[in-house]
Amino acid sequence: MEVVTLGTGSPIPDANRAGAATLVRAGNATLLIDCGRAVVMRLVAAGVFPPMLTQLLITHLHSDHINNFNDVLTTRWIMSPVDNPLPVIGPSGTAAFVDQTIAMLKDDIHYRLEHHNDLNWNPSCTTQEITSGVAWEAEGVRVTAAPTDHRPVSPSIGFRIEADGAVVAIAGDTIPCAGLDEICAGADIYVQTVLRPELIKAVPSPRLQDVLDYHSSCAQAGATAARAGVKTLVLTHLVPAPAPGTESEWIAEAASEFAGEIIVAADLQSIST
Ligand SMILES: [Zn+2]
Ligand SMILES: [Zn+2]
Repeated sequence: MEVVTLGTGSPIPDANRAGAATLVRAGNATLLIDCGRAVVMRLVAAGVFPPMLTQLLITHLHSDHINNFNDVLTTRWIMSPVDNPLPVIGPSGTAAFVDQTIAMLKDDIHYRLEHHNDLNWNPSCTTQEITSGVAWEAEGVRVTAAPTDHRPVSPSIGFRIEADGAVVAIAGDTIPCAGLDEICAGADIYVQTVLRPELIKAVPSPRLQDVLDYHSSCAQAGATAARAGVKTLVLTHLVPAPAPGTESEWIAEAASEFAGEIIVAADLQSIST
């Protein structure tokens, strides 16, 4: 399997880090997990046009994880030669979000259907909501979901992707919890969204302090990786974005709990099992 960290940024805009999105090439499938800021540009840079996606997996409905969903959906629609519904798997609420996005796009959908004679179907999704268990199994791949803890944001889920005898865990935003341990158990690659509490505490913004209690710190991500017997820990969704040259500090914090390989991801970094 191959993991490509398409977007490693957070809600705080950064010129070099797109929003939350990870690509996983597994078996015969091309999976996109979350679809934050600039995801379509990063997908194309990784060699994937939206019509080529096998599944979109959504961890939760925070805007930084879904705010470019409309671009994925519309670009897939207008680039596909035949009707090509986008398969979407996400937590409860995903179907309503999909329906509301399509409703938001009604003027654009009308313009294009009127203008293009060979385009005579609406953009659409096949949407599946899940809390836990096997979410999808085909193309030599099995995707399992488990509930994570991003409260008060609820529900949130993480994904365990199995193919070719390897395991990739995509955690999304969460603090350590039983569901996270479940998807990470024995994983070859564990991708975790993280923050560095000391850096956030140094910023005198009450709104920023609020994010401390529902994200994993680097040390917590390391502890989860150690407990689950993970081989490689990938840190992403970095809050705040590391100043160039300080990546080793992020690694050191995770390494205080975990002796395996630790990667501070950059956009479009490829990691293989
Ligand atoms: Zn979130
Ligand atoms: Zn987030």
